[in-house]
Amino acid sequence: MIWDKVFELAWESLQAKSYPVGAALVDPAGEITHSGRNRAAEKSAPPGRLFGTTIAHAEFDVLGQLPQDEYDGYTLYSSLQPCLMCSTALRLVGINQVVHAGADPLRNATDEVPAVLPELIAGRWPRRTGPADGFAGSWGSLLPAMWMVAYKPDAVAEPSDLMPWATIERARRCVAGGVLECGSAAEAYQLAASLSASD
Ligand SMILES: [Zn+2]
Repeated sequence: MIWDKVFELAWESLQAKSYPVGAALVDPAGEITHSGRNRAAEKSAPPGRLFGTTIAHAEFDVLGQLPQDEYDGYTLYSSLQPCLMCSTALRLVGINQVVHAGADPLRNATDEVPAVLPELIAGRWPRRTGPADGFAGSWGSLLPAMWMVAYKPDAVAEPSDLMPWATIERARRCVAGGVLECGSAAEAYQLAASLSASD
């Protein structure tokens, strides 16, 4: 199950205090060939992988593992809507389909970038599908919101364009309810879902 893998990786990031985003590359047969996660706050990583820098994004972690090749029919799955940097990197690598779980409204403008690019580049700009329905969509957005509440509380002290206020409030209940101390991604989701059931 692709989302299970992607969210396990996002959970690993959260446990390491990195921004919680996971990603996986899926080949035309539906198999995961590479996976990665955000390591922005970490002091180590497997050889050749980014860590300890703001640009250590999950999608970048996947793309940085790929040899120069053809990737027609491949799809990158991410737990969160990709940023402009990662969308550009997808275009350069030649992967033109991206599916994301959670929404990040700040990144919607990425879809409008092809309009200002030459046709040669714009024609293969990654097609974005998301946010996902149900579990994946809500959990993909809630993980970064919990990270903000736990590690950047001043940035979410009051409503702003950063994230929907309802998501921030839900994240506060999850952090207060002990979701970050759960032993696994599955356990964390179960607890978050039960805390949200009383919304
Ligand atoms: Zn990115």
